[in-house]
Amino acid sequence: MSERRRTGGAPERLIRCTDCGGVYPAQTDGDGGLRPIGVGAQCSCGNDEFVPYQDG
Ligand SMILES: [Zn+2]
Repeated sequence: MSERRRTGGAPERLIRCTDCGGVYPAQTDGDGGLRPIGVGAQCSCGNDEFVPYQDG
């Protein structure tokens, strides 16, 4: 599976589900949107709202 996109090579980020608090790696999707990687467009709990996760 190769998901290469020429989107400027934005670094992966971590995002957190606003509902269950699950943390996922994500990519920014051009327009500043965050898209989780590996779980489609939604969290495993069904929520599709995420906030940037800051560790530390
Ligand atoms: Zn969730």
